[in-house]
Amino acid sequence: MSGLRHQDKVALITAATDGIGYAIAERLGKEGAKVVISSRKQKNVDAAVNNLRQQGIEVMGLVCHVGKKEHREALIQETVAKYGGIDILVSNAAVNPVYGPMLKVTTEEAWDKIFDINVKASFFLVKSAMPYMKNRKGASVILVSSIGGFTPDKSLGAYSTSKTAMFGLVKNLAVECAEFGVRVNGLAPGLIKTRFSKQLWDGRESEAVGFSIPLGRIGLPEDCGAVVSFLASDDAAFVVGENIVAAGGQLSRL
Ligand code: NAP
Repeated sequence: MSGLRHQDKVALITAATDGIGYAIAERLGKEGAKVVISSRKQKNVDAAVNNLRQQGIEVMGLVCHVGKKEHREALIQETVAKYGGIDILVSNAAVNPVYGPMLKVTTEEAWDKIFDINVKASFFLVKSAMPYMKNRKGASVILVSSIGGFTPDKSLGAYSTSKTAMFGLVKNLAVECAEFGVRVNGLAPGLIKTRFSKQLWDGRESEAVGFSIPLGRIGLPEDCGAVVSFLASDDAAFVVGENIVAAGGQLSRL
């Protein structure tokens, strides 16, 4: 770890009570940031706040379902009321309500939900946060997409398409936000061992690794925390509009 790269910064992370989002909050907190974590369920928020506090991290926890505009707005307003602004914004929430060939399983409702949560909510979160990030030294936005955005998957078609859209969202937001001195980048994780991806690795870990991950292991949430921490730091001061892949060597080309 590279010291306290985020000392006194305010970091807001969505979907941060478990998995990748939690690991991002933990890593940014350990590097000195005051972290604001959120997810849909109060009990998950309370448990995560407790765990982070026990590690000496300054943390505030709020309920926020990112699909609800009023939740997103409250998350931002309460963060600003408590800490005065936002230096790091990580949009990490995503859903995948259907699994299987998309021509068979994807209904209009499922399509709307996937794009509302994964793409639309990310955009409007950034839009609402920007007035409180602009012109803050070193301010940075990171959108969490997926290796699936690069690599077609017969079981995750609509989800993967939404993640490809996020690459474009990163590129387009990056040029607009650069005007305010805010860098925008993306993290595209590969297969990471979390509850969300359990179906893909549980009981067939060696199969998953053997076929497609040259490094020979499934990723851990901490692998993602480390990349986000780098992207949010001054070490990445000239990195803008990039979608960084953390996937153990899985192919990632559009
Ligand atoms: P996870 O371990 O299942 O954690 C999901 C977190 O999201 C929980 O804290 C959950 O808490 C919260 N959440 C779920 N729906 C939400 C919503 N609508 N609004 C706010 N919070 C919500 O998931 P993960 O694997 O860490 O995934 C995080 C991100 O990484 C997603 O964008 C996913 O697409 C991406 N990703 C994951 C993998 C992988 O292999 N795991 C690979 C590539 C990309 P509550 O239940 O309390 O809401």
